[in-house]
Amino acid sequence: MAGKNLIIFVPPGAGKGTQSEVIKEKISVFHLSTGDMLREAIKNETETGKLAKQYTEAGKLVPDEVVIKIVEEKVASIDKDMGTLFDGFPRTLDQAKALDAMLEKLGRSIDAVIAIMVPDENIVTRLTGRRMCPACNMIYHITAKPPKKEGVCDHDGEVLIIRKDDNEKVIRQRLDTYHQQTSPVMDYYKERDLLKEIDGTGTPKETSDKIMTLFE
Ligand code: ADP
Repeated sequence: MAGKNLIIFVPPGAGKGTQSEVIKEKISVFHLSTGDMLREAIKNETETGKLAKQYTEAGKLVPDEVVIKIVEEKVASIDKDMGTLFDGFPRTLDQAKALDAMLEKLGRSIDAVIAIMVPDENIVTRLTGRRMCPACNMIYHITAKPPKKEGVCDHDGEVLIIRKDDNEKVIRQRLDTYHQQTSPVMDYYKERDLLKEIDGTGTPKETSDKIMTLFE
């Protein structure tokens, strides 16, 4: 599957980060996460970061033109033979259309869209227990995926943090945003027969095993 361009498509907090890691280990793709890119920009207080901060902290989508610009810059720099795993992008129809256009310019296209399906009720429980490493962005969960030593990253020993947007009010806002704006994007790929739906209600391992069957 080298050189493939994939989208991983999941509700907020349904394990995008975790499953992206698994896919990245299995096949050779560049992992492009707009959530990570935006958090990095916010941390570095760049112009993009200053603009994005108010939206992410309110659980709202960052404006399309801002996200499309950072993705466009990144995509152009990725080796064509490597392919890309798009994580958290596209989230709107305009982003999906912009992605098609930028890939076409580079002689590439989307090969498959992996949609992990999880009901809203499960998501709230999951996100309130989520912890993140501020240094390497590794995601943990207090019960489902605890670090070896409580509160500390396995990789670099940094103290894990709770993301500002991981509180129940913001989570519900993010789920509402997701349903309103992102469902049409799933339909966009479904119509083109690119959508592979995966049941994401089991353990992270069960979900990743299901994803792996797609690559066999
Ligand atoms: P989640 O935890 O929701 O899966 P991400 O880490 O992908 O989230 O994104 C965190 C926040 O960054 C989002 O709630 C949103 O404000 C912003 N964001 C990330 N990707 C996009 C995008 N493609 N379009 C607009 N906003 C985005």
